[in-house]
Amino acid sequence: LVSRDFHPQSTLVEVGGAVFGDGHPPVIIAGPCSIESEEQMLMAARQVSAAGAHMLRGGAFKPRTGPHSFQGLGVEGLKYLRQAGNAVGLPVVTEVMRIEQLPVVCEYADMLQIGARNMQNFDLLKEVGKTGYPVLLKRGMSATIEEFLAAAEYILAEGNDRVVLCERGIRTFERATRNTLDLSVVPLIREMSHLPIIVDPSHATGKRALVPIMGKAALVAGAHGLMIEVHPDPARALCDGAQSLDTDGFGALMAELQRLQAVL
Ligand code: PEP
Ligand code: MN
Repeated sequence: LVSRDFHPQSTLVEVGGAVFGDGHPPVIIAGPCSIESEEQMLMAARQVSAAGAHMLRGGAFKPRTGPHSFQGLGVEGLKYLRQAGNAVGLPVVTEVMRIEQLPVVCEYADMLQIGARNMQNFDLLKEVGKTGYPVLLKRGMSATIEEFLAAAEYILAEGNDRVVLCERGIRTFERATRNTLDLSVVPLIREMSHLPIIVDPSHATGKRALVPIMGKAALVAGAHGLMIEVHPDPARALCDGAQSLDTDGFGALMAELQRLQAVL
């Protein structure tokens, strides 16, 4: 179902006016790693929307590597995300970690994110498929392209083809970056599958300074969009501050992306 061999025409995925796929300008999703408060979420939303982002992100259920790290605000966070999205007129995407969270996440989100750590949570993929909601499926940190596409296949097998793939870096021997951004999957997936693919240079690199250049590289490689972590005050972020752009940094990146798009 995900293969281009049996479905030559590229799939377009529309989420609240933003369109992922061939022939459409890249969709830029921006916002904080996690929703920390009503004020923080609203401020982030205003800032990324003013800079020209097309969608808003923010985590309410956070898949943290350690149990003592901030786990997210849960349903309260979902409300702040929705409010912020409504305030600036942007559709919102947020991660759903467990099947039991699906009804409430569907109530507040426009797009469901499956995180890297859940890419092979097949029961969750099936249930997400059944909702018919647009899905942002992140690549598992040790998943091959075949496994990545097989995970998407689970969603399509439930009759839901509104799937956007997201490369977010894979685990290699290299420790200088948080993950290793595998940019070659972008042209490869575009060849193998009809589904749109975007890149998350924030989690892929873990380093703020690398995010703009790798984001631009992703668009040159053919990505249909980017997911960028932006925080009004990265030094105080409860999650992933080191890889989050501040408002000025994101504004500068958006201006550079405009110039890049003009020559692509
Ligand atoms: C995220 O985007 O909030 C996230 C946790 O990313 P990943 O699942 O790619 O680690
Ligand atoms: Mn994060």
